[in-house]
Amino acid sequence: MEFSWSEEDLAFRREADAFVKETLPPWWTGQYTSGERGRVYTKEFCQKLGERGLLTMAWPKEYGGADAPIWNQVHFKEIMAAYGEPRGPQYMNLNWIGPSIMLFGTDEQKSYHLGRMSKGDVIWCQGFSEPDAGSDLASLKTRAVEDGDDYVINGQKVWTSNAERAEVCFLLARTDPDAPKHRGISVFLIDMDTPGVTVRKIKSMSGWGGLNEVFFDDVRVPRSTMLGEKNAGWSVITAALNFERIGQPRYEASKIVIDKVIKYATTTSHGDGPLSKDPVLRQKIAQAYVRYRAARVLTYRLASIVAKGDDPGPGESSMNRIHQILLSQHTANLSMEVLGLYGRLQPDVPDAPFQGVLEHDWRWCVSSTIAAGTLEIQKEQVAVRGLGLPR
Ligand SMILES: Cc1cc2nc3c(=O)[nH]c(=O)nc-3n(C[C@H](O)[C@H](O)[C@H](O)COP(=O)(O)OP(=O)(O)OC[C@H]3O[C@@H](n4cnc5c(N)ncnc54)[C@H](O)[C@@H]3O)c2cc1C
Repeated sequence: MEFSWSEEDLAFRREADAFVKETLPPWWTGQYTSGERGRVYTKEFCQKLGERGLLTMAWPKEYGGADAPIWNQVHFKEIMAAYGEPRGPQYMNLNWIGPSIMLFGTDEQKSYHLGRMSKGDVIWCQGFSEPDAGSDLASLKTRAVEDGDDYVINGQKVWTSNAERAEVCFLLARTDPDAPKHRGISVFLIDMDTPGVTVRKIKSMSGWGGLNEVFFDDVRVPRSTMLGEKNAGWSVITAALNFERIGQPRYEASKIVIDKVIKYATTTSHGDGPLSKDPVLRQKIAQAYVRYRAARVLTYRLASIVAKGDDPGPGESSMNRIHQILLSQHTANLSMEVLGLYGRLQPDVPDAPFQGVLEHDWRWCVSSTIAAGTLEIQKEQVAVRGLGLPR
């Protein structure tokens, strides 16, 4: 067991960090806080990463990668999280849609979709949740009916992140309504400009959150858009969700919050000295840092399982996710406690501390215990799949 990086790792981190630092524009504060120009910019940034070979470096060469060790990808994801995720919505393609297509796709699907992803040219969305199918995803009702060489799709999705600007959707639909609910679902890779697809934005407490409803009215797609076998979509979903839960090294975003809290506490007067002399506050900051370090080790453990070619399974990946999402809420609450009422100033308000980044993070982190499977469902996974407790 070795807990320090090799010289090669350190050199890669330095080089990648320098590239990102010199590439990002001075106005960039994060994907949710840089406004409309930030949202547009994420694609340009991904294309630059694609040109530099940094976007999918751990993918095989034949799919636009560089066969780089998985650890390079971990380093890079950490750097992305530390800069407010300038890949924007494309993290979805790179984290789990691409790997799922690599596992289940036909040769044509792999070469078309993975090629575009590795160049940073395409934004995807994930059409899983429905008004009556969230935690119990297998209850989904969107129907795909075979008609000659096509499928005709009708139904509704909800909470679809980034659908308003996505070009392709990773869609779940029921292809056999008479089979047990887990056995009648298939996956489709659908162009969002197909006639009959309508996107409607949803307002949320986090302001612009990129959340949408998506309606499918007689959407006709060729059979070749199906990923994997007909009615065998549940194994695709299981693999995709596992990739997704390994997800982002969110702890680096939490570390930014801790660093900003320390900066604020050391530069703000309180009584006879800086706020950072407050003994209770010091304890809290130290506690947040301990949680951050633990989250990092859990992610590294997961990465090392994947690097050996093993499947971490849902128990392990849920455990990691639970720790990361609770850390993000812990640090967000700490930041509001330290900044007090100033902390509530939003990103577009002049004089908001740190350009309002912490305020946005505080509102946004509420959703972290819901998105990609709620906290309760993640704990259930650890109980059943990790500890073997009865269902
Ligand atoms: C910011 C954000 C982005 C999202 N992006 C997407 C996206 O891009 N694509 C997509 O398809 N979906 C997306 N979602 C939806 C998300 O996956 C669902 O909200 C989530 O799976 C929960 O489903 P639900 O909202 O229907 O809640 P429900 O499943 O109705 O749950 C309601 C409550 O009941 C609890 N509960 C339910 N079942 C159990 C159980 N068996 N045991 C214990 N407690 C239980 C839940 O934990 C929760 O507290 C997003 C959500 C958010 C917040």
